[in-house]
Amino acid sequence: MSRHPFYKTARWRRARLGHLSREPLCRLCRQAGRVNDGGLTMGGLSQADRRRRFLVVDHVVPHRGDHALFWDVANWQTLCPDHHDVVKQREEVRGFSNARGRDGWPIDPAHPANR
Ligand SMILES: [Zn+2]
Repeated sequence: MSRHPFYKTARWRRARLGHLSREPLCRLCRQAGRVNDGGLTMGGLSQADRRRRFLVVDHVVPHRGDHALFWDVANWQTLCPDHHDVVKQREEVRGFSNARGRDGWPIDPAHPANR
């Protein structure tokens, strides 16, 4: 995964920690009824790989280098590494995010429904 220079800033490090204190559990695990603070796999087992015991602050709509999307707090979600891999792989294959807003409409401008 290529890392955008935004991630290297002190502003992101601070913002990331702030987000994790507000949302300290994987959102997709929570939707599956599981409490995962980074210690579990997405299947709910104890995470045996120590290097994967952390949480990712993910962009719901891929920012693709867009400054506003990158820094939009409403566009951030906490994921475990397993869910992050799954979500990113699907986006790479499809070329857009399937995430939906409160109104049920796909929020990624690259989603076919928005083009
Ligand atoms: Zn998860």
